[in-house]
Amino acid sequence: MIGTLWKLQIGAFNLGTNACASITNSPFSSASSINRVCGRKTREPKQTMPSLTLFLVVLVLAAAETPPARAALLESFDAQQREFDYFALALQWPGTYCRRTRHCCPTNGCCRGSNSPTVFTIHGLWPDYNDGTWPACCSRSSFDPKEISTLTNALEQYWPSLSCGSSSTCHGGKGSFWAHEWEKHGTCSYPVIRNEYDYFVTALNVYFKYNVTDVLNEAGYVPSNTEKYPLGGIISAIENAFHASPLIVCSKDAVEELRLCFYKDFKPRDCAVGSDIKIDMVTSKGSCPRYVSLPEPVSARYGGLQSWISDDATL
Ligand code: 5GP
Ligand code: 5GP
Repeated sequence: MIGTLWKLQIGAFNLGTNACASITNSPFSSASSINRVCGRKTREPKQTMPSLTLFLVVLVLAAAETPPARAALLESFDAQQREFDYFALALQWPGTYCRRTRHCCPTNGCCRGSNSPTVFTIHGLWPDYNDGTWPACCSRSSFDPKEISTLTNALEQYWPSLSCGSSSTCHGGKGSFWAHEWEKHGTCSYPVIRNEYDYFVTALNVYFKYNVTDVLNEAGYVPSNTEKYPLGGIISAIENAFHASPLIVCSKDAVEELRLCFYKDFKPRDCAVGSDIKIDMVTSKGSCPRYVSLPEPVSARYGGLQSWISDDATL
């Protein structure tokens, strides 16, 4: 049933394809430079995806589907962990991220030639605290690729790893990008998200519903290697569409990440937290200049000019 609905949903959705926070209880390092934003909202949220009903049905059914293997995960959530306050959907821009690709490998989404992503792709769905910190590694459960086998095609397309480096996992090992995101962030999404499958299907659904790439394209912010766009204009386009302020991360003058924030019921909310709410983001100390670029995605090809290294090599 879930599988059928999932296919329907993919079909229904026409996809063209720092912050200043510190981790409270994580073995991972934290250092981010992000512009927190806030601003006036002028219009009702624009639904860029038509099938809200279907989206809700998928969410409800995904949450309800808790076979024994998945239910077991619930038991390993850290009962001591303070519950998070809101979600951030972290998206990455391949045009910027892939410019630093020095190696290609079968798992690197940057290296698919003309099939490389041309839309914002998912970095992760992150539970955060209102004070600017976040929980991490909240469960003893390890990532199990079998749990999400029915989602693999969608994840390959919309949540690809954009590097060859293997990622650290919560228990001292190395794993895939998905393993890293589930173990570090997903396990802290309890009780809204109750298992690994739920985490990935929820992130995909939210990503499809709030299609940032479409919003920016419709506002004239199209990928370009020559144009510079006003950061304020990009922010306004997203605020007008979703009625909430995003958070933008740049690498030099290029947009590298864009974060959308949500209450626990997945209604959009501003990403700004605490005293940052008062900061005028365009003049804040964030990483983006007033005019930013949205570089065209490169179409490197695995086996082409770039060298090839094994999956577990670190960049
Ligand atoms: P960076 O230093 O690249 O900004 O962030 C490194 C990692 O720290 C991210 O990939 C993510 O795992 C975590 N991180 C950075 N900022 C945030 C945040 O605002 N919320 C959460 N939950 N994690 C973050
Ligand atoms: P985070 O920054 O989310 O805490 O950590 C991301 C981890 O996944 C890092 O170890 C990074 O090397 C690895 N990784 C693999 N693919 C990607 C990708 O496409 N984007 C980012 N940001 N990290 C990736």
